[in-house]
Amino acid sequence: MSYRYECRACRTVSKTDTEPQAEQVRDLHRAVHHGGMAPMAGDQVRPSRIPVPQGPPPISGRRALLLLGLLVAALLATRLLSH
Ligand SMILES: [Zn+2]
Repeated sequence: MSYRYECRACRTVSKTDTEPQAEQVRDLHRAVHHGGMAPMAGDQVRPSRIPVPQGPPPISGRRALLLLGLLVAALLATRLLSH
């Protein structure tokens, strides 16, 4: 699982492979950008969220009817042509 360090004061995010790496990034960031202090706006190390795979886009009722109509028309056409 990957981890991320977020600084709300600077609105920055760093992604790392492990939690100790993210804590090192936090310490370095605080030292360089905040004089070794924790930013008042807050910062945190937390597990990176795994993105949820997106399904196909929702289809509207009207479009579904249109597709169904096309399918029926194609079926009728193949039946007429086969006889
Ligand atoms: Zn910062």
